[in-house]
Amino acid sequence: MNYILYENFCSNPQAYWFWFEVVFVVGCCMGSFLNVCIWRMPLGESVITAPSHCPKCGHQIKWYENIPLISFLCLRAKCSGCKQPITWRYFIVELLTGTLFAIAYIAITYKKMPFSLMIPAGAMIMLAVSAAFIDFEHRIIPDALNFPAMVVGGIFWIAEYFTGAIRLEGLIITLFCGFAAWGFFIFLAWLGAKIFKAEALGMGDVKFLAAAAFLFGPSMIIEYFAGLLIASLSGFLFGVVHALLKKQDLRGSTLPFGPFLASGMVIAMYLPHCK
Ligand SMILES: [Zn+2]
Repeated sequence: MNYILYENFCSNPQAYWFWFEVVFVVGCCMGSFLNVCIWRMPLGESVITAPSHCPKCGHQIKWYENIPLISFLCLRAKCSGCKQPITWRYFIVELLTGTLFAIAYIAITYKKMPFSLMIPAGAMIMLAVSAAFIDFEHRIIPDALNFPAMVVGGIFWIAEYFTGAIRLEGLIITLFCGFAAWGFFIFLAWLGAKIFKAEALGMGDVKFLAAAAFLFGPSMIIEYFAGLLIASLSGFLFGVVHALLKKQDLRGSTLPFGPFLASGMVIAMYLPHCK
């Protein structure tokens, strides 16, 4: 297994596992940034300006209190200012993002795909993790997540075209698919609202699906549809079980769709590559 993995990617296993560790650490740092997004975006606060502070006592987080995973454990999940507990979400999001990055690295090298694909894969993971957590709590997927993801996808494939990695047709298909997905899911949301007389697919979900289409690109269209299928089936099954347990009408189900879309797309990204 190890042999197959590194042979596809570099000359020796040491280098392979070194890059594995780098990817994991970068993923954890990205998770740390996502924690800021998850906390501030629904409140409409900027994620770039204003240094991080404790939401309970206002204590400014020092750089050494902001090291992913490690600081949380060293502080024993407590703010160093007011000693109030810090939610485990911080630790979970960092570990989850790092782990998903590491799995993406293994999947990409195993499938003999170019390492540059870590960029759209990483963007997809970041979008998925933050959208899942925000949608679960606030029932929205902010534009501030979806639009940057679309832009990253668009710019990445344009750069791939200029470096000769994909042909012009590939670039046109990608950009077309992104906008087509956007239009199609707006239509589907409208249709769903007409038929079910309730919002089945929110505009946040629609833009999330468009962003995923931009990120998946020309070679992963089948995986994209697989992700859609996984999300819809798991969302539907969960919805039915949830409605039965709560003895509600399925149409009145208030289950957020974002976490299902997010996990569906991330799982699809790891699937064996089919052409
Ligand atoms: Zn505090």
